[in-house]
Amino acid sequence: MLEKTTQNWKSQAEELDIESRAFINGRFVDAVSGETRTCFNPADGSRLAEVACCGPEDADVAVAGARAVFERGDWAKMAPADRKRILVQWAELIEQNTEELALLECLDVGKPISDTVNVDVPSAVRTIRWSGEAIDKVYDEIPPTPADTLALIQRLPLGVVAAIVPWNFPLSTTAWKLAPSLATGNSVVLKPASATPLSALYIARLAAEAGLPEGVLQVLPGPGGSMGKHLALHMDIDGLTFTGSTPVGQLLMQYSGKSNLKRTFLELGGKSPNIVFADANLDKAAAMAAAAVFYNGGQTCTAGTRLIVEEKILDAFMDKVTGHAAKWMPGNPLDPATRMGPMIDEAQHNNVAEYVKIGHEEGAVLTFGGNRVLDETGGYYHEPTIFCRVSNQMQIAQEEIFGPVLSVIPFADVEEAVNIANDSIYGLAGAVWSNDINTAHSVAAAVRVGTMGINNYFGGDITVPFGGFKQSGNGRDKSIHAFHDYTELKTTWIEFE
Ligand code: NAP
Repeated sequence: MLEKTTQNWKSQAEELDIESRAFINGRFVDAVSGETRTCFNPADGSRLAEVACCGPEDADVAVAGARAVFERGDWAKMAPADRKRILVQWAELIEQNTEELALLECLDVGKPISDTVNVDVPSAVRTIRWSGEAIDKVYDEIPPTPADTLALIQRLPLGVVAAIVPWNFPLSTTAWKLAPSLATGNSVVLKPASATPLSALYIARLAAEAGLPEGVLQVLPGPGGSMGKHLALHMDIDGLTFTGSTPVGQLLMQYSGKSNLKRTFLELGGKSPNIVFADANLDKAAAMAAAAVFYNGGQTCTAGTRLIVEEKILDAFMDKVTGHAAKWMPGNPLDPATRMGPMIDEAQHNNVAEYVKIGHEEGAVLTFGGNRVLDETGGYYHEPTIFCRVSNQMQIAQEEIFGPVLSVIPFADVEEAVNIANDSIYGLAGAVWSNDINTAHSVAAAVRVGTMGINNYFGGDITVPFGGFKQSGNGRDKSIHAFHDYTELKTTWIEFE
């Protein structure tokens, strides 16, 4: 597939038939108001589609449909083995359409085509297939009660779940939400990010083809501040699963409290520490330090944005990292050689530029990049950027920039490294690089994050849970543990005569 040239992908893009209507009760429909929102390609600012802009009235129809099918039990009471069959078939169909879906995601998000083909689509396929395959292998419990009693502890679906997802990994995060919530028997109303609704609509069609009953999956593009808020406040939604920013996550907890206490699970922002000791494999650590922050243009919740380096190797190590940074210069996402694409939109582009300005004002030393580039394309490209000699108190070390900006912070000893790493409101991910097992493991144990790599960054797969400590969230995506977020525990107590 990747033997294709930029021109091949461009020609294929011109042929794409893009679905832009909402998916409600098994059919693609316009918003009740008839309103649409333009979806743009961040690589050149061109118009991709006019997408249905759903409001509260569409949400109410979708929630009622999702509730009706849940109560009928068409899906919720289907044998797990049959739900498995449909989910696995859905994964197969997505896999068969890898090329088209990867292209759509590339155009909608500005992600490099090599990433959408090799990472985003395969990750969604694996997530849905794995959750489907797992669901008929999960047993409930019988606890050790007295002999004249029998108790059953069962996990039952929550009911109707709303899933609200961001624009930075639209397909992967959608799969992380849909796979376990559907596998456990819920009906789901999905709200994609306004900037990137296209892959969710595409896979909704494939879900119907795979045999998912009507109403079990509803996909509603629309504004978060109104339609998303309406879902979060809805009295007939039982669960809310969210991936996005910490401020919006805080609002969602409030909406839950103000409405029906719907179970609310949040995957939020990060400012992840990547700690390098002098005794590490420095070549590997340097290559991964660049990848950890520049992958997806830094628009990654787990991005290793704080590079915490042992003082005595700082200059030599940073020479290596800078060498790798140069390989991440942005380019056309349709070019198979491109590693980094544009920022998602003008606002995000300006946000990154603003943080670069703040970094200068705070007295950090810019050692690489720092500029907007490729303006002539109409897209939103920014150079990979490195600030050295950053203090962890600076704004660029504390706030999530969500762009290709690395803050490099020196440390003297283990204690200082751990203190810097933990001095953050976030606790999503991190890594430590050292060839001393004692140092590596003690630092990994002391850093308060949901996922910690030792001598790797971005490690993990569908078999392990993913989520944050502190203000990085309270839920867990992926693995069997994700099933817990979408189920209620029910006890049935039986006494024999
Ligand atoms: P965002 O602004 O929080 O938006 C996320 C979603 O929430 C979008 O669908 C948005 O809709 C919706 N939304 C906004 N305001 C809402 C409200 N008042 N009520 C209900 N829904 C609302 O985040 P983003 O800018 O799309 O994504 C970037 C953030 O996501 C970063 O902070 C990143 O760290 C985080 N993230 C976390 C993870 C993780 O797993 N921990 C993974 C990826 C990204 P609109 O699009 O219509 O505004």
